Amino acid sequence: MSLANKLAEERRLRLAAERLLEQKQAELFAANRKLGLHARKLSDEIVETRAEVQTVRDENQRVKSDLTVAHEKVEIAERRLWHSIETIQDGFAFFDVDSLMIAANKSYLAVFDGLEEIRPGVSYVRILQLLTEEGIVDTGDSPPADWRAMMTGRWQSPSPDPTVIRLWNGQYIKLIDQRGHGGDVVSLALNITETVRYEKELKKARERAEAANRAKSTFLANMSHEIRTPMNGVVGMAELLRDTTLDEEQKLYVDTIKNSGEALLVIINDVLDYSKIEAEKLVLHPEPFDLERCIHEVVLLLQPVARDKSIEMVVEYDLFLPTVFVGDPGRIRQVLTNLLGNAVKFTSRGHVLVRVVGMQHEGSTETQLHITVEDTGIGIAAEKVEHIFGEFNQVEDERNRQFEGTGLGLAISEKLIKLMGGTIWVDSEEGVGSCFGFRLALETDDTGPEEPLGLPEHLKKIMVVDDLEVNRLIMGKQIEAFGLKVHCVENGPQALEMLDDSFDAIVTDHNMPGMDGLELARLLKERRDDLPIILASSDPGAAEQDPAFALIRGVMPKPTPRRMLLRHLAALEAEQRPQVDRLPSAVASTPSAQSRPMRILAAEDNKTNQLVFEKMLKSLDIDLKFAGNGIEAIELYQKFAPDLIFMDISMPQMDGKEASERIRVIEGQGISRVPIVALTAHAMDGDREGILAAGLDHYLTKPLRKVEIISMIAKYRPDDARAIIPENVQAPA
Ligand code: ADP
Repeated sequence: MSLANKLAEERRLRLAAERLLEQKQAELFAANRKLGLHARKLSDEIVETRAEVQTVRDENQRVKSDLTVAHEKVEIAERRLWHSIETIQDGFAFFDVDSLMIAANKSYLAVFDGLEEIRPGVSYVRILQLLTEEGIVDTGDSPPADWRAMMTGRWQSPSPDPTVIRLWNGQYIKLIDQRGHGGDVVSLALNITETVRYEKELKKARERAEAANRAKSTFLANMSHEIRTPMNGVVGMAELLRDTTLDEEQKLYVDTIKNSGEALLVIINDVLDYSKIEAEKLVLHPEPFDLERCIHEVVLLLQPVARDKSIEMVVEYDLFLPTVFVGDPGRIRQVLTNLLGNAVKFTSRGHVLVRVVGMQHEGSTETQLHITVEDTGIGIAAEKVEHIFGEFNQVEDERNRQFEGTGLGLAISEKLIKLMGGTIWVDSEEGVGSCFGFRLALETDDTGPEEPLGLPEHLKKIMVVDDLEVNRLIMGKQIEAFGLKVHCVENGPQALEMLDDSFDAIVTDHNMPGMDGLELARLLKERRDDLPIILASSDPGAAEQDPAFALIRGVMPKPTPRRMLLRHLAALEAEQRPQVDRLPSAVASTPSAQSRPMRILAAEDNKTNQLVFEKMLKSLDIDLKFAGNGIEAIELYQKFAPDLIFMDISMPQMDGKEASERIRVIEGQGISRVPIVALTAHAMDGDREGILAAGLDHYLTKPLRKVEIISMIAKYRPDDARAIIPENVQAPA
């Protein structure tokens, strides 16, 4: 190699070395910088960590001091708690999961009267043992071992029921033990001696109060008896006197006696009912009854008063509603009588409308009934409305003072409806009228007591004549529901105008302005002799007296129950004598050739009542004998062989119940059963059951009503006895 080449080579190498050096230097520099950065980061981190360490140290310090404070607090709390536990009068103890005592307060320990063994560490079982062995507990009738077994069993249950133990000194301790999470038990022993004593006193006081209440009820029953017995004489005699020949003035006196007597009885009944409800003595007697009929009966009862005041009474009973329900008919009638009675009393013109609608929920046998009584009377001022269901609350003002009343009727009605699970309300506007309503849920009785009646084939179209629109509406609806065509007119002249061959029968109102129903009947007959006419009258008695009565095929009282209307229409089948619906229908028994009179025995100790009874029945063709007490009744029963016995319940020597029981025993020897009707002044609940249980068949409360007694007699007249009403005598109304 030449020198030049060597030099060039060297230079090249040097240059390469220099480049390498430069590169390495650059790398070194970069590494240095990185190192520097890292070192800085590290030092930053160190600073940060130091700060954190400081914070943690501070925190640690704080926690430590907090802990100390907390410790102190816990100690204080524990001390206070224990102090409190120590000061309470009741015993307090803890037990661990093995039922060993951890601690107990002084009261707990006091029971053991310093027994050494009872201290922390003692077992519950040992405590029970000491309680019995030392005679601390009075286990009553149960042997100590049984008592301990019972107490141990209780203790071991997951949540023991509180129990009361009696100590030797007569103190009562209630033990309440609570098992905690870990199995520890907190045991409380409360001294309830005072409470027990108080409870005993309360029980005694309650027994005394109940006895007093019973005494009150008995007093009420006796009162009712005592008052009703003489009232029976007063009202009964007045009724009899009324039937004798009297001049106008005497009649007025007699009527006043009778009305006052009856008014007094209403008041007695109200007060009795009210007291009974108050004493929670009133029991409902549910049974199947016909609601529609019940309403009509109440309306009929009030009809005479309404008629005198020219108030129209209307019943609108939903055609698609069943009529037979299960409820207490007596009590429902009482509410209806009160509401309707008030409506008639406080109305001087217009109408009183009873409306019944109802709803039956699917799958339920109960019907929600909604009954309203609407009147066009004096109404009640808005500020008074709220109070009228309260007792003795009458809307006192000049106008109202002219009306009589106890002010108890609505209070009783409200309580009765509530007792039946319903609600009662009123809407009223002064001077316009009132609407009282109640809602009741009653079971529907599907076994309706009446069979369906078929209508004659030829009957297709009926004409209804009535001056009152509501009546036309209801009767029209009822007839349509029977599947007949109906045409309603307002008065006689319109009826005559409309009359043609298409009508098969006419149902006409009796009292109408201008031409009345009987006059219309006369004119109709002149035009069409074959046309049957049925009269709806609020006074069937008066209709019967009219010569035109002979032209009528039937008389129905107003308002007419649906069934009765149907019966009258069904009866148009053949030529028939006039059909008159009056009470009591059973009395007018068919004349017969039987020779012997019906034998009736009446057991009654009170001479006045005997007289009343005898006079009431004097027009009847019967053989009546009296017994003065139960013993005489039995004797006469055997000698006289009566067909029917009326039996007073309260009689000296032997009462009516016992006499009836004995008669039933005698009958047990193969004699046929004689019907016995109880006569009683007792209107208290429970009597009914007691009386019927004694073998009596019926129950009449005093004062006795002629109609009721005669109905009973007619009902039980045997076939071989003569008709009770002599053939030439008219049936009593
Ligand atoms: P009584 O009718 O015996 O006074 P009630 O308790 O039945 O007692 O009625 C209380 C009062 O409510 C009545 O005195 C009367 O002021 C008012 N009242 C009740 N019904 C009606 C009614 N239909 N129209 C107007 N006021 C009535």
